[in-house]
Amino acid sequence: MNDMPTLGRPPKRVLRRSVILLLMVVCVLLAVVGARRHHDAAVVPVPPVVADASVPEVAARPPSDELGRAGLRKVKVDLSGPLETALVQGLGSELGQRLTQTVVRQLAWWVQVPKDLLRGDRIELLFEERVGQEPLVVALRFRSHKLGREFKSFRFVAPGAQFGHYYQPGGSELELRLIDSPLDDYDQVTSLLKDGRDHKGIDFKTPVGTPIRAPFEAVVVRKTWLFAQNGNSLELRDVATHRAAIFLHLSPLPASLFVGAAIKRGDVVAQTGNSGHSFAPHLHYQLVSPKGEALDPFVIHKTMRRKLSPTDLALFNAEMQRLEHLF
Ligand SMILES: [Zn+2]
Repeated sequence: MNDMPTLGRPPKRVLRRSVILLLMVVCVLLAVVGARRHHDAAVVPVPPVVADASVPEVAARPPSDELGRAGLRKVKVDLSGPLETALVQGLGSELGQRLTQTVVRQLAWWVQVPKDLLRGDRIELLFEERVGQEPLVVALRFRSHKLGREFKSFRFVAPGAQFGHYYQPGGSELELRLIDSPLDDYDQVTSLLKDGRDHKGIDFKTPVGTPIRAPFEAVVVRKTWLFAQNGNSLELRDVATHRAAIFLHLSPLPASLFVGAAIKRGDVVAQTGNSGHSFAPHLHYQLVSPKGEALDPFVIHKTMRRKLSPTDLALFNAEMQRLEHLF
């Protein structure tokens, strides 16, 4: 019995050895075939990639059309879903997302975003891509099914103006202006209460150091709380209505501004900044009812729409024509 297993082993070992040998042969064969295939693939002729010596190495392709010469790009979207999805599909995620943000800022002056954007609405844009900055929309056409008409806006820098703004045909500004505004001028409103971002205030894009005026006769309620979030901040209470005005992301506040101080309407109380949870210089302006509800400054304040002077309107019309031609 003892011998049997011993005697029985050699054939198995031989068999195992043969199997191993066979497997090795197969492996070697496969490897050779694989290598040949690989080699074959490598020797398949590929189109020559050597550049024509007369062409400069950096492919500075000359602009092929007027749009390129103007440094602009064009995009057209017929909405069949979210605007961002369409722009991301057409332009890639980073540019698509950033462009959506800038476009929504304009659309929000005409309709409520996103609920009033309907299937079949058409949005056409001319924009400038800018390195390290958000894209700059210079012309926008928006055909709205909800309102049954087309809207247009064009960016224009009036002579002597600190900022370029968006104007509609006829020369009226796209954005409304607050009367008794905390800022005399600014670059752009970058967030409205009705722009779908669930944000409690208005954001005004403006350089650090822009003076902030009290929108009403007020008393200083508090200074700089929750710094990591709000940065330097200020709350005023309206003497007449007991509403609060909250200003966030300011430059450091003067020591002379103390809690309880009485402020007249129009007094400069602070300067804008970029402090706290803020990604770019801007002013966050928020109105709060005595019950603590967020109020829309564009509803509470009286508003007006600025119009270009006749001289500026002539220049704007020329710019509008130039841009319309590029669509
Ligand atoms: Zn804000």
